[in-house]
Amino acid sequence: MAIDDDLTTPVGGPAASTAAPEVARSARSTHDAFFESACRSLGYDNATFELLLLAAREIRSELPLRRDDGSIEVFNAYRVQHHNARGPYKGGLRFHPDVDIDEVRGLACLMTLKTALVDIPFGGAKGGVDCDPARLSARELEQLTRKYTSKFHRLIGPNLDIAAPDIGTDARVMAWIQDEYSKIYGYDPGVVTGKPVLTGGSVGREEATGLGVSLVLDRLVTGRGESLAGRTAAIQGFGNVGCHAADFLDRLGMHIVAISDHTGGVVDPAGLPIDECIRRVRGGEHIAALGAEPIANADLLELDVDVLIPAAISSVITASNAPAVRARLIVEAANSPVTAAADALLTARGVEIVPDILANAGGVIVSYYEWVQNLQQFYWSLDQVHERLAVRLDSTTDAVIDEADREQISLRSAAYRIATLRVKDAFFIAGF
Ligand code: NAD
Repeated sequence: MAIDDDLTTPVGGPAASTAAPEVARSARSTHDAFFESACRSLGYDNATFELLLLAAREIRSELPLRRDDGSIEVFNAYRVQHHNARGPYKGGLRFHPDVDIDEVRGLACLMTLKTALVDIPFGGAKGGVDCDPARLSARELEQLTRKYTSKFHRLIGPNLDIAAPDIGTDARVMAWIQDEYSKIYGYDPGVVTGKPVLTGGSVGREEATGLGVSLVLDRLVTGRGESLAGRTAAIQGFGNVGCHAADFLDRLGMHIVAISDHTGGVVDPAGLPIDECIRRVRGGEHIAALGAEPIANADLLELDVDVLIPAAISSVITASNAPAVRARLIVEAANSPVTAAADALLTARGVEIVPDILANAGGVIVSYYEWVQNLQQFYWSLDQVHERLAVRLDSTTDAVIDEADREQISLRSAAYRIATLRVKDAFFIAGF
């Protein structure tokens, strides 16, 4: 672990926080379990697994914020840079009260595998601040983002580490990072992706993750000679990913029978009017207030639907509720929504799971396209972005299905094997 920023504090290595509660650690331990299993299946020894798991750099900092009422609040901020043998570090920035170093570590490693699986020239990273953006005014959010950038600027950049939106952050937050960074280094929009089109963002980036969810699911189903039209889906989480996934799947003829956000969900066995739901949520309404029949988030996960799409937070399907899940196919639009224990139970029951590193990779693919456009200062049309996204996701989905069929393993094991092999080969060729 290298530390070269005097404004930040190194945090302990992967073995440092073994006493954290199971739920807080679950995103990381879930990912570590899948990664370890891929390393074992590829015949790697323990030292190789530990080496690949280790982050290259972990940084923590405290961000003091003057609140609008004059009080001062201090937040913990993190950036974990996992691997960069295949290209600059790349990963989202999350603003959420539960953010801690363990979660950020797990998500950084997950990004390394995701960029490797879809074969784009990036490594993996993740950042986070343990704040609740819903409790902050726009001014407070901007100040906090600018503080984060000023603390971490030496370690980010278009050829070093490129941030993107994640839970609790959006294009506006990326624009603030871009602006703060440009005050020091000059105009360089490639420092972040997922920024507004007006400041150098790519058309098609906003909907890319949700579109990717629909493309991967459609490729899987049509590859088997079936169709999504008329099939039912329940989607947990109606933010950037869930909302766009619902929109594209609705256009493919699926009946989205339940949706939810942190306030609760609504259900209609005949299918919800997705256009209207999106319009009202964008207008500021919460899902629980939409007026349809209510359903709790926990019950949504157990609905008798063809496809279950967790698109909110991690570890929502655990060993406790996995036996009650009735969907035959789960698409992990969120990162790590199914714990390792639940994965084993569901797989044993024949429930198929499209893993996060494939299902939600559309976002980082279009982030890569955005970065390419920024480097070239030459911008693409929406059709070009969508077409290139579809080509890459189709070929990756086919490769994962082929590997799963050939090795007689799950889609997750297949995806992790392909990604792990690429990361290990690059790491060992580059040397350390
Ligand atoms: P977002 O902040 O835009 O939306 C999150 C949604 O989840 C909101 O509707 C929120 O109300 C809901 N939610 C929060 N807590 C919940 C809870 N306890 N129960 C039910 N719903 C809850 O975030 P997003 O960008 O849509 O990201 C969602 C997931 O997708 C995250 O796991 C993120 O890491 C992953 N992801 C996002 C992208 C991207 O491009 N945005 C890319 C890859 C992966």
